[in-house]
Amino acid sequence: MSQQARIEAVLGVVAHTPRDVKVPTDVHGRVLTPSEIFGTSVFGLSALQKALPKPVYAQFVKQMRGRQTLDKTTADAVAHAVRVWAQDRGCTHFTHWFQPQTGTTAEKHDSFLTLKYNASGEFAAAIDAFSGSQLLQSEPDASSFPSGGMRTTFEARGYTVWDTTSPMFLRDGPIKGTTTLYIPSVFISYNGQALDEKTVLLRANEALSKSAVKVLRLLGENVSRVYTTLGTEQEYFLIDRNLYSLRPDLKLTGRTLIGSVPPKHQQLEDHYFGKIPSRVLATMSESELELLKLGVPVKTRHNEVAPQQFELAPIFEEATVAVDHNLLVMDVMHQVAHRHKLKVLFHEKPFKGINGSGKHCNWSMSTDQGDNLLDPTVRPETNYRFLIFLLATLLGVKQHQGILRASISSSSNLHRLGAQEAPPGIISAFLGEQLTEVLDAIEQKRGIKNFSVPHMQTIKLGGTVLDLKVAVLPEIARDLTDRNRTSPFAFTGNKFEFRAVGSKQSPSFPVTVLTAAVASALDQIAKKLEAKMAGKAIATEDDKIAVIRDLIADTRAIRFEGDNYSQAWSDEAEKRGLLNIKSVPEAYAQLLEPVNADMLTKATAVFTHEELHSRYHVLVERFAKDLLIEANTLKFMINQTILPAVYDYRKSLADTATALKAAGCDASPEVDAIKAITPLLVKLTASSAALTETADAIFDIADPVEQAKAADAKLVAAMEEVRSAADALEQKVADKFWPLPKYTELLFQ
Ligand code: ADP
Ligand code: MG
Repeated sequence: MSQQARIEAVLGVVAHTPRDVKVPTDVHGRVLTPSEIFGTSVFGLSALQKALPKPVYAQFVKQMRGRQTLDKTTADAVAHAVRVWAQDRGCTHFTHWFQPQTGTTAEKHDSFLTLKYNASGEFAAAIDAFSGSQLLQSEPDASSFPSGGMRTTFEARGYTVWDTTSPMFLRDGPIKGTTTLYIPSVFISYNGQALDEKTVLLRANEALSKSAVKVLRLLGENVSRVYTTLGTEQEYFLIDRNLYSLRPDLKLTGRTLIGSVPPKHQQLEDHYFGKIPSRVLATMSESELELLKLGVPVKTRHNEVAPQQFELAPIFEEATVAVDHNLLVMDVMHQVAHRHKLKVLFHEKPFKGINGSGKHCNWSMSTDQGDNLLDPTVRPETNYRFLIFLLATLLGVKQHQGILRASISSSSNLHRLGAQEAPPGIISAFLGEQLTEVLDAIEQKRGIKNFSVPHMQTIKLGGTVLDLKVAVLPEIARDLTDRNRTSPFAFTGNKFEFRAVGSKQSPSFPVTVLTAAVASALDQIAKKLEAKMAGKAIATEDDKIAVIRDLIADTRAIRFEGDNYSQAWSDEAEKRGLLNIKSVPEAYAQLLEPVNADMLTKATAVFTHEELHSRYHVLVERFAKDLLIEANTLKFMINQTILPAVYDYRKSLADTATALKAAGCDASPEVDAIKAITPLLVKLTASSAALTETADAIFDIADPVEQAKAADAKLVAAMEEVRSAADALEQKVADKFWPLPKYTELLFQ
C-alpha cells in the first residue's frame, strides 16, 4: 500500500465507465415489467402444480402445510419435476442452502451427474439424476460451523433438511449455463438439535400460531393458523472498490478503525432522500432485477442520512420467507456492487462520527385468511382483538426485554446502540399519541359507563378507524408526524417496527425471540381470559374489557413516548425497573436468565436447554473473536502503514530543516512541525504497544465468557486510544505521505 496506490484509486473513481446492464425483454424487445420478472427463477407452487400429477401435488401441499417430512414417493416426484424445470434453464448443480450461526448462509454444490454401472460392475452410462432423498436431506461436514460446544468433533455430523415452506430457486453462475438450484434448508445435528438460525424461527412461529389460535377461539373466531409477517428495511453504504481495497480495516472488519471525520459530512442534511447518484442507481437497479427474478418483492429505494448511505425495503412476507429474502438481498447486493466496482458495507457503523445503519424489522401477525391482527379495523367487534394482540406484544416485550436486547447485541451494533443515533440499551415501546390516549381512556374507565350505548366514537389510526364504543374519547385525525425515531420498538399504524436490529445481522434471531415472547404472552392472556370466562365457550365484552384493562396496567412500564436518547429517560427507566444493559456480554447473559430461559425452553419450546446454552456460547465467542480481529488489524495497520508514513514525513521535514540550516536559512517552521507531530507519534507508539499487550493477554484467556468480558472492558478503550492518536496525526501529516484513503475520498465521489 502506498501513496501512489491511493492517488490511482482516487483517479480511478473519476475515470469509472458505467457498466452496461442488460434488462430483460420479451421476444419483441419490450422491456419486462417488475411483475413479469417477479419469481421467474423460483420453483414455486404453481410451477410444481404444472409439473406434478394432481394427486401427488395434493399430497405435497398437504404435507407442506402440516410441516411434515415428505414421504419418499412424493419427494422423488418433486425432485424429478424440479430437475427437469431447472435443467431447462441451464442448471447444472443443486445445493442445500442453510443458515449456520455465522450471520450468513452456507452452501455446498453437487452436480446432477450420476454414473451408471451394469450388473457386472462395468461403467455403462453417465446420466443426470436427482433423487427425492437428495432433495430432502444432505450431510455437510458440520465440524467447522459454530456449535457452541454442542457438537464435539467425534460426532461432527450435521444434516441439512429441505424446508418445504420456502420455495427453491435458481441462481446464475458467472458463466452462462452454470446455474445452481438452491434448496432452502434447516441445519440440525446428528441428534436433532438446531445448529442454525432457521429451525428456531420455524419453532417460534409454530408456538405463536398455537397460542394465537387459542386466544382467537376464546374470542369466538375460528382460525386454524396464524403466521408472522416481516418487512426488513435494509440500510447500507456503497463505496468505491479500489478505495476499499486499500483499507485493510474495511476488508477485515467491515469498518474503518481509523480515519478522521471530514469538515463536511451529514450536517447539511442534504443526502437524505436526495437524488440517487447514477452509479449507485445502476447498482440498485441491477440488484433489483436479480432479486425480482428470485421472487424477492423489492419495493423502495432511497438515499439515507449519511453520505453514500442508502436503503432498500421490500414488501413484507411471511417471516421465514422474509428472512431468507433478506439474506438474499444482502448476498445479491454484494455481488452486483462488485460488477459496478463498488463495495457494499452492511456493517452497523463503518464510519465514526456519521450515521450508522440499521435493519428495521417491521413485524406483525396475520390469520390464515390474511387478516392483520395488529390492524385496528372498522368492525367494532374486532377492535377487542386488535387491542388484545397489541397488548400481547407489549407484554412479551416487557417480560423479555432482556433477551430482545441480547438478540440485537454484537461487536458491531455496539457502536450504534446508545450512540445518540439509534435506540439505546433500554428496550421500550412507542405507541403514538392516539393509541396511548385509547389505552389511557380504557384504563381510567373513562366512558365505560356509556359502554353499552350504541353511540359510536371513532378514532382514525394508521389509515383505519378504531371504534371503541367509548363516547368520551376525542376524535383525532391521524398525525402523520406520529413517528419517534428514537424508539427501539415502535407501533407504526398496523405493525411494530423493531428498529434496534443491526444492519449486518440476520433478522432471524431477533424475530425468533420476539415471536416466542409474544407467543408466551398470548398463552398467559388465554389463561386470563379463561379465568374471566368461568366456563363459557366464548368471551363476553365484559370478559374482554376486564382482561384488556389488566393488560394495560401490566404493560404501562414498557411504554415510552419521549426522547429515548435523553438522560431523563435513563433515570425514568430505572425508576420503572426497566433493564438498561450497556455491555454486550451483559446482554448475552440474559439468554440464561431464568425468566427468558424458561420462556424459550419450557413455555414455547423454541430452544432446548442445550441449544440455548450453545447459542449463548456461540454469541460470546463470536464477540471476543470479533474484537480481537479488530485489535490485531489495527495493530498491523499502525505498525506496517501508519508509523512508517509518519517516520517518512518526519524524516523529510528533518532533511529539509538540515538543508535549510546548512544554507543559513531559518528552519524553525519545519522544526515546529516536527515538534507538533512528535508527541502524537509517541502517543501512537505507546498506545499501539499497549493495545498489543492487552490483545495478547485477552487472547490467552481460556474461558470464553471471561475472554468476552475482558475484551469488552479493555479492548474497546485500548483501540480508541490508538485511534485518537492516529486520527490526530492524519490531520497533521502532509497529505502526500498518507497511505490510506481518507473519509473525504471514501464518502464523497
Ligand atoms: P412506514 O411508512 O411505516 O415505514 P411502509 O409502508 O413504508 O411503512 O413499510 C415499511 C416496511 O414495513 C415495508 O417493508 C412494508 O412491507 C412493511 N410492512 C407493512 N405492513 C406490514 C405488516 N403487516 N407486517 C410486516 N411488515 C409490514
Ligand atoms: Mg423506516
